[in-house]
Amino acid sequence: MRTPMIAGNWKLHKTLGEATALVAELIPAIAGNNHVEVVVAPVYTALHKVAEAISGSNIKLAAQNCYAEAQGAFTGEVSAPLLKDVGCQYVIIGHSERRQLFGETDESVNRKVHAVAEAGLGTILCIGETLEERENDSMLDVLRRQVRFALRNLSTEQMAHVVIAYEPVWAIGDAGIPATSDYADARQAEIIATAEDVLGRRVPCLYGGSVNPENCQELIQCPHIDGLFIGRSAWKVEGYLDILTRCAAVI
Ligand code: PEP
Repeated sequence: MRTPMIAGNWKLHKTLGEATALVAELIPAIAGNNHVEVVVAPVYTALHKVAEAISGSNIKLAAQNCYAEAQGAFTGEVSAPLLKDVGCQYVIIGHSERRQLFGETDESVNRKVHAVAEAGLGTILCIGETLEERENDSMLDVLRRQVRFALRNLSTEQMAHVVIAYEPVWAIGDAGIPATSDYADARQAEIIATAEDVLGRRVPCLYGGSVNPENCQELIQCPHIDGLFIGRSAWKVEGYLDILTRCAAVI
């Protein structure tokens, strides 16, 4: 298996100064780390400065979204080749906030996954069921549909750069309740099996949704959890470092 990834999604937070200050503290603290792949996902405006700040370190850079076209008359959009140009290695696609607040669909997610692959970047593909879907027991159908649709028509080579982040929507954010490790691991096993059916290979699958220093060790030790995707607990360097250290101790 590949090295577990622990990704911090900063969402719409952090000025340039705050973003560079966080990585300036993070870099020396994880200098010898080779247990986990550390990924930070700042807002677009901080990508360039953060890319410069982490250059030569073992931190990787992700953007939180991109447009499906490489260039053209698309005012206000940012494309995958431009994200590569600025120094990103990954692009997060299909986060539930984008699906719920910005009209992202399985179709647009698939187009963006293709655009990211075309640019030679890795995709962190977010999927997850809502509370309603969990309660009416349709979560497995939903997760399978999201995986199959998102990965449609990818070439074998393009597939090699996809990481899935399973994020139950009901587990994310201030109102979120973290999934139990048993629940998360069972869903992850189903997602991995579906992706393997489409891609013909084992795809790494992260868990996200209210990960914190208290639950990170139990989660990361689950057989089908290949890493963690973290929102709030990664916004302060102490919290993120705490999780990285605790995970490294049990991996
Ligand atoms: C997220 O938004 O992807 C997320 C995992 O957030 P949080 O960790 O804050 O629940």
